Amino acid sequence: MANHPAAPVSPINDVTIIGTGPAGLTAAIYAARAALNPVVYAGMQHGGQLTTTTEVENFPGFEHGIMGPKLMTEMTAQAERFGTKIHYEEITKVDFSSQPLKLWAGDKMIESRTVIIATGATAKTLGLKTESTLMGRGLSTCATCDGFFYRRQTIWRKSARK
Ligand SMILES: Cc1cc2nc3c(=O)[nH]c(=O)nc-3n(C[C@H](O)[C@H](O)[C@H](O)COP(=O)(O)OP(=O)(O)OC[C@H]3O[C@@H](n4cnc5c(N)ncnc54)[C@H](O)[C@@H]3O)c2cc1C
Repeated sequence: MANHPAAPVSPINDVTIIGTGPAGLTAAIYAARAALNPVVYAGMQHGGQLTTTTEVENFPGFEHGIMGPKLMTEMTAQAERFGTKIHYEEITKVDFSSQPLKLWAGDKMIESRTVIIATGATAKTLGLKTESTLMGRGLSTCATCDGFFYRRQTIWRKSARK
């Protein structure tokens, strides 16, 4: 039998994804299925914002809704099934000024040909004391998530336009 040398293992990732919310894990599923061996960094909140909620009712494919944490567990498993590697570390610094692109997780430096940033967003609130107590109890920061509950009711919306 021919003695084949082991295939060289590139120390440079093809695709590095920052974030494991729905955006990061969707990117991971597609990249993994395209044989791009994605390496994903989860940061402080593996699964992203949906891990902090209960029923998600607008995600296609779940007639009766699905719990946020369950949805994100399923997405993680789907990404891993195709070979995605997830690191439970935060990216603390990047240098995208030259190829290969460089990222750091603390002292550890990672090199990558491409990087997908899927670090999400946070709602901008007004800073009122009552906001934290009323959040989820009539006060919402997400029309897609909660608008349906307020149909045919009068709502107050902070306008972006003057
Ligand atoms: C309470 C609540 C209820 C919601 N309900 C619904 C709903 O019912 N329906 C709906 O459509 N939407 C809902 N949303 C909105 C939805 O959660 C977001 O639109 C969605 O999570 C955005 O996905 P994302 O992947 O872009 O980012 P996120 O979910 O915000 O994920 C960001 C990811 O990036 C990681 N990250 C950030 N910085 C770093 C770093 N430096 N290094 C490594 N990783 C990093 C985080 O750890 C996280 O994994 C809700 C949001 C909240 C807060």
